[in-house]
Amino acid sequence: MQSSAPDSAPGQVWAHTGQPFPTQDYDVVVLGAGRMGTACALFLRQLVPTRSLLLVEEGGLPNEDGATLLAPGVWTTLDVPESRWPEAHWTRAQLCADAWDITFQPRPMIDLHATAGEARTPSRDLTLDPEVVDMAALPWATVDTHAATYRPGALALAAAQAAIRAGADLLLNTRAHLGGDGRVVLERLTVTNTHQIVVHETHHLCAGTIVVALGAHGPHATEHDLGMHTAHARAYRQAPRVNWPSTDASPVLRAGGVTLRPQHGGYVLVPAIHHRDPAGYVPTGGRLTGVPTGLRRETLEDLVAGLDALPVLGTEALESGRSVSDVPGAWLALPGGTPAGLPQHEEVVLGVHLLLGGPHADTLGLSTAYDLAATIAGVQGRPWEGT
Ligand code: ADP
Repeated sequence: MQSSAPDSAPGQVWAHTGQPFPTQDYDVVVLGAGRMGTACALFLRQLVPTRSLLLVEEGGLPNEDGATLLAPGVWTTLDVPESRWPEAHWTRAQLCADAWDITFQPRPMIDLHATAGEARTPSRDLTLDPEVVDMAALPWATVDTHAATYRPGALALAAAQAAIRAGADLLLNTRAHLGGDGRVVLERLTVTNTHQIVVHETHHLCAGTIVVALGAHGPHATEHDLGMHTAHARAYRQAPRVNWPSTDASPVLRAGGVTLRPQHGGYVLVPAIHHRDPAGYVPTGGRLTGVPTGLRRETLEDLVAGLDALPVLGTEALESGRSVSDVPGAWLALPGGTPAGLPQHEEVVLGVHLLLGGPHADTLGLSTAYDLAATIAGVQGRPWEGT
């Protein structure tokens, strides 16, 4: 991480509706304080500290409803094309830097296969727990020895704090809408004594540049508020816990698209994303041999298909819950409308940039946020070019 502007005073934070909010205009307003928005805000403060910046978030920091908190946090080049590896390695170097103060845990990523193929090694040569992986069913493996894990929520928090120290203002518990012509409508939210979230007051402000970093809501916001069409979509992903012991040395395992990510002495199961979830889709739990579970049908189908290869999924170690609310899950953006879509940004109308992370933000999110900040700042060249 580069050092922030030495002479900038820290920004102001409005966390509660009781704090009066001055409605001054800003040069840049970043909507959404997930990992994409917070990183972009920080890079903007570093690249153009003279431009005033406001970061707006509907919830807290990081918001428990966002994609960031539940993202797997697995850095690996196995999932991104070679043309983007320089960016991926720049992101890795950033994540390792002491300045972020996040736990970045190098550990191999092992992608298991039933058949031989290019760059695949026999899985029996790896030290894998046979109660987790059936090596007879998955005799081949692709190994990324440079992979690592981290917590994207910790990254978002560190980026937001660094951005504020570098002069960014932060407005929490505020829902934002695009008003057109550089206007942003801000609804400051409060909770009633019957636990309903209501709008306490509304403000309008103007911004020269708006960054829409609303995660899965970003494409919808630009489509709904600006009346335009985008190619992007969203998907719902559950992340149930698997209570099987893991250590700092345990590798990340993947078979049939299902990832087992070591975390807090156990594993988190990250299902594959097969398709976009249609507008209006409401996640509901499925049924396993007639018993209701919190895992939705699509996830159950993947798990049943993977039971032979990953026997641990058929044990009580998997926390499948009774209803969908028992299993952590989040909406995430699908850039370009496909699960393979890589993080990207685009200027949807003059001065309004849509910034999307999505399924591959663990590896390329930070560099994409930097690229947008550098684009807005008018900086030529990128630090990963020529590496
Ligand atoms: P990403 O990985 O792209 O950063 P997230 O879903 O983690 O995606 O972050 C998007 C953030 O935007 C979330 O914290 C969410 O609460 C916030 N958000 C979504 N809609 C709004 C809105 N209308 N106004 C303000 N914040 C919003």
